[in-house]
Parts: sequence; C-alpha cells; structure tokens
Amino acid sequence: MLEKKIIEVRKRVSQWKKDGLSIGLVPTMGALHEGHLSLIKKSVETCDKTIVSIFVNPIQFGPSEDLEKYPKTIDADLELCKNAGVDLVFSPSPSEMYGEGHILSNDFLTYVVPPYFYTDKLCAKSRIGHFDGVCTVVMKLFNIVQPDYAVFGQKDAQQLIVIKKMVKDLDIPIEIISCPIVRDKNGLALSSRNQYLSEDGKKYSLALNKILVNIKACYKKGITDTKSLVETALVFLNNHHELEYLEFVDKNTLENKTVADGDTLVLIAVRVDNVRLIDNCFII
Ligand code: AMP
Repeated sequence: MLEKKIIEVRKRVSQWKKDGLSIGLVPTMGALHEGHLSLIKKSVETCDKTIVSIFVNPIQFGPSEDLEKYPKTIDADLELCKNAGVDLVFSPSPSEMYGEGHILSNDFLTYVVPPYFYTDKLCAKSRIGHFDGVCTVVMKLFNIVQPDYAVFGQKDAQQLIVIKKMVKDLDIPIEIISCPIVRDKNGLALSSRNQYLSEDGKKYSLALNKILVNIKACYKKGITDTKSLVETALVFLNNHHELEYLEFVDKNTLENKTVADGDTLVLIAVRVDNVRLIDNCFII
C-alpha cells in the first residue's frame, strides 16, 4: 500500500499500464479529511487504479510559513486510504523528490514557473513563489505516476486554475478533474490547517463562508458592483480577523472583475487568530 521510492511506483504503474488499466492521481499533503476523501472517491469511481500522494512539499512553503509544524498523521491517512479503495499511497521523502541537499544545492534546479498573470494576485501575493513550488511538484508527480486523470479540489481555486493552465500550455496528456468544496456542518471549508484553530477561532472562522453566502445573496438581489459587494463583508469581520483579500475574478482566467457577472469567482483569505484560511465560491 505505502511506497516511498519513485522507482517502485514506476514499476507498479508500468505493470498497470501494460494491463490496460486507467490510473487516477490524487495529490495531497496528508492529514487527510473528508475533503480529500471526496477527491479519492471521485478517482476510485473514475479510474481502475488510484494513487494518492502524501507529500508536504517544502518548495511551496515560504520561510515564515508552517512547513515544520504542518500536521502529519500518516498511520490514520493510510487507514483512510485503504478503506476508500486506494491502490497505492506514494509518500516520498523530500530527498527522494529533490535530492539530498535540495533547494540549497545543485541537486535540484529546474522549476515549472506558471505565468505571472496568474501569480501576481490572490494567495501568491503573500506566498511568494508558492505556485512555482506547486507546479513543480505536481509536474514531478505527473511524470512519476503518469496518470490518466488527476483530481484536485475547488477549495484551492487559484491552484486549480494554475494547474489547468499548465496542463493546457504544456500539452500534458492528463485530464484534470475538479471536486467541490467539502464543508463541516457549520459551513467551514475543511482544511488540514483547521486543527490549528482554537474553539473561539473555529467560531470566528465561520465568517469566511458567511461572507461568501451573503455576497451570493446580494448578487442575486442585483448588486453587481464589486466594491459594494466587498463592503457587505465588513459586518462579518472583527478584530479577530485579518482580511488578506476578498476578490472577484473570472472563474477561468483569474482576470479581475469590477462588475460581477455569471462567470465570477469570489475568493477570500483571512487570518483568524493568526491561522491563514482560504475559501471561495462561484457567484452563481
Ligand atoms: P492539501 O492536502 O491541502 O494540499 O490538499 C490536497 C487536495 O485536496 C487539493 O486538491 C485540495 O484542493 C483538496 N482539498 C483540500 N480541502 C478540501 C475541501 N475541503 N474540499 C474539497 N477539496 C479539498
């Protein structure tokens, strides 16, 4: 079930390919929850074989981010994967992926850099180089696993758009499947980082979804000016919230919108008691 070595994954995959089986890849950083499981379920339904990768990718974290403390629950993750019908979990070490002295050495130097237009905004503004790290690891996983399908969550909407663009621009022969955001009963989008929230933090974090729901309602009533829509959000925020962004973009191109329309994607990032949370919704 668990493989840590690229060479072993390649052996398994090449046998499956010889047998004419389709392969789905679900890339994750572990600490799996129902959101991840929805992606896994989609892959298991769609493909003959499903590979889940669990890799906390160091090159997508900034120096002041939570790489060291990112939650690791590999035993529970393996159990969940087994019960969900996963065929293989690929969980390499950083040195397996990037060589012994990665980042600071010559072992690993080649990055996939997505277009600036997609990375001069939203999460990339506060996470410099984040999407270079994401595209690079995803490209490596694609090359190692060579899946027919790869499944990603709408939860990381900017990531999904960037990856779709990479696949299109570089003619990568993989179909990208996206899955809707899974939320808890109170509307909070599930995230491995929710574990960092205190009980009060969990309450304050509900503001993100409330803001999105309210924006959708306002749009339905006819308010389309995005400045006015941003203002409607302010009533949900207090001094426990640090709003990083609330933006309106085209759902395919990430182009900014001053007037919302049916193609608008609304994205929000807020720090709640210093835990960074993101959420988004299609305006209709
Ligand atoms: P992560 O482990 O956070 O890197 O996420 C791995 C994949 O799971 C990404 O494609 C995420 O978008 C997706 N994902 C994470 N949380 C959710 C959620 N609440 N609903 C749907 N997909 C999710």
